[in-house]
Amino acid sequence: MSIEIENIHKQFGDFTALQDVTLSIPSGELVALLGPSGSGKTTLLRIIAGLETPDRGRIIFNGEDTTDRHVRERKVGFVFQHYALFKHMTVFDNVAFGLNVRPSGTRPSKSAITEKVMELLRLVQLEGMAKRYPSQLSGGQRQRIALARALAVEPQVLLLDEPFGALDAQVRAELRRWLRKLHDEIHVTSVFVTHDQEEALEVADRIVVMNRGGIEQAGTPDQVYEHPANPFVLNFLGNVNLFHGRMFQGEAQMGGIRVDAPGYAGADNAPAVAYVRSHDIEIDRSQVDATALKAEIRHIQKLGPSVRVTLNLEGNGGFIEAELTRDIFQTLGLQQGEQVFVRPRQVRVFVEDYQI
Ligand code: ADP
Ligand code: MG
Repeated sequence: MSIEIENIHKQFGDFTALQDVTLSIPSGELVALLGPSGSGKTTLLRIIAGLETPDRGRIIFNGEDTTDRHVRERKVGFVFQHYALFKHMTVFDNVAFGLNVRPSGTRPSKSAITEKVMELLRLVQLEGMAKRYPSQLSGGQRQRIALARALAVEPQVLLLDEPFGALDAQVRAELRRWLRKLHDEIHVTSVFVTHDQEEALEVADRIVVMNRGGIEQAGTPDQVYEHPANPFVLNFLGNVNLFHGRMFQGEAQMGGIRVDAPGYAGADNAPAVAYVRSHDIEIDRSQVDATALKAEIRHIQKLGPSVRVTLNLEGNGGFIEAELTRDIFQTLGLQQGEQVFVRPRQVRVFVEDYQI
């Protein structure tokens, strides 16, 4: 089922939660809505579901306007951050719930329900747990059951609102890989809300970056990561260093960093900002070329496979962060207090919201 979101606007009192949001989701896609807390992700998801009514705009499922359709008619499945499993019911009964409550005319037979539930439990790899109660499951297992329950009614659309948000980092990482694999098997059109950029980059076919009730950029994980449309997207997707400066005679000059801007038609002196991701900063012991900037190592922090090095640039006194692999860090043998040279491998310069 494809979803068209057309000029959706939503106001809560004076507060604009969504401003003319337009987005097209092709059938079978897994799209992530990614943005900081309060950016309107949940509101958009609830409007798609029919749990919230937009002030303006339309939601179209497979070419049909569903804006005024009741949530029950939309055939959506939900998974929320907080396990909404029924505590007094077994895993089996939880998954069967949506089928058991159907009116007798449309309710499948008892044996058909059993078959369906067992098939779903196999799909979420918990077939041995049918007789357990939610309290006898781990957090990750409960979310897999919540997903099986959402899928039991064969939804046309699956909506997941921070489904792994309450789990610890390792379980989250496993579940996101698992969800990706599951989606490759069942291909149900899915909208996945998260504020975690890594999760979105790993799980989604397409990422929609949201900010203040609007869409900043929509694209594949590679597109939004490699070609961020504006400083917000660049900042949100990864650790970034900022170098402030100005345009001068066709060149952006930011501290020691200079970037040619032959196409720049704006005024001299316009404020320019260079953005460099921390893993795009190279550290050398000698001055390799004129782009290298002298810096002192102030702090070293080991983070599993990578090492974060905080440096103080000579001259303007600004701090930058570089992220190195442990291998490179060990090869260089860096120590706190040492003088080194840093070179940005990839620099993106924006003047206002325009990338030069
Ligand atoms: P997100 O899911 O991205 O964190 P939400 O869609 O939940 O963002 O919320 C967006 C903004 O709208 C928030 O500032 C929130 O406080 C506000 N908001 C959401 N629902 C309501 C509501 N029912 N009444 C008033 N304000 C709301
Ligand atoms: Mg939310």
